[in-house]
Amino acid sequence: MKLLTLNFLTCAIKTCKTSPASFPLHPRDCELEVVESESVNLPFLKNILPRLMWDELRVIADELGLPALPSTPPTRDDLVEPSSSSTTTISHAQNAGNAAEGQQQAEEKPSQTARDLHRVLLETCIKEGKLVCGNCGHEYKVMEGVANFLLPGHLV
Ligand SMILES: [Zn+2]
Repeated sequence: MKLLTLNFLTCAIKTCKTSPASFPLHPRDCELEVVESESVNLPFLKNILPRLMWDELRVIADELGLPALPSTPPTRDDLVEPSSSSTTTISHAQNAGNAAEGQQQAEEKPSQTARDLHRVLLETCIKEGKLVCGNCGHEYKVMEGVANFLLPGHLV
């Protein structure tokens, strides 16, 4: 399961739903796997950025021993390589002459920040391990990348 998933998960036990301690679920004894994907989906990252629980994400990254995330979330602008459009335009213009200038609407390129975020949220996956509720202590097993949220009968 991708780490992004943890951003949307809370404990399934009813009495935990109202407790702030049930989010995020805490990874424990986790085996991570990095699944590289071809390209950074910039529109997607921009879209989920406002819905990311940044402080909780930092906690999870820390608990997994990942490189520390910055203390404040990136802005949408941070995700775009600042020089990408102008650099492309200039080199293009140099090659093709000034006529090409203006016609080139360079595509936004993901910045290092975007690539880092992509790596953490979408390429870093929990393969095996547990997710532990901070409120009730219930452990959800993750096996072969899938978290099991079925509860034993007495807890439903
Ligand atoms: Zn719980």
